[in-house]
Order: sequence, then structure tokens, then C-alpha cells
Amino acid sequence: MSHPVIEADECIGCGICVDACPQEVLEVVNGVAESVNDEACIACGDCVEECPMGAIPEIVED
Ligand code: SF4
Ligand code: SF4
Repeated sequence: MSHPVIEADECIGCGICVDACPQEVLEVVNGVAESVNDEACIACGDCVEECPMGAIPEIVED
């Protein structure tokens, strides 16, 4: 299984990653992006590409 790594300190809560994710893995909760559906992640990398803050540096395999 894969999931995105989110650097909460870098996140500005813009929601771009939420919109970019084709699998509805991400949500902004209290102003910070969170993975709410790790098991759905297909490791496409779209969230990594689209985050303007570099707050999702990588996708990791469990
Ligand atoms: S890698 Fe793709 S599927 Fe996984 S959280 Fe990011 S955008 Fe969603
Ligand atoms: S795109 Fe980046 S800065 Fe914006 S909510 Fe997602 S992780 Fe945070």
C-alpha cells in the first residue's frame, strides 16, 4: 500500500492536492492536508506535482 507524506508545517491548506487527487485520498482538516483514505492511493504522484509548497515530498510504500 502507498500513501502520501504530508509535511504539516509546510502546508497552507489551499486544497489543491485535494482537487488533484483522483482517488479522494486527501482532505483539508483544520487547515492542514491529511490523508483520510490511505488505502485508495494509487501512487500516481499528482498531489506531489501540484502542491505549490512542496508539502507532499513523496509517496511511500508501506
Ligand atoms: S499519489 Fe495520487 S492517488 Fe495518492 S494521494 Fe497523491 S494524488 Fe492521490
Ligand atoms: S496542495 Fe500542498 S499546501 Fe495545498 S493543501 Fe495540499 S499539501 Fe497543503
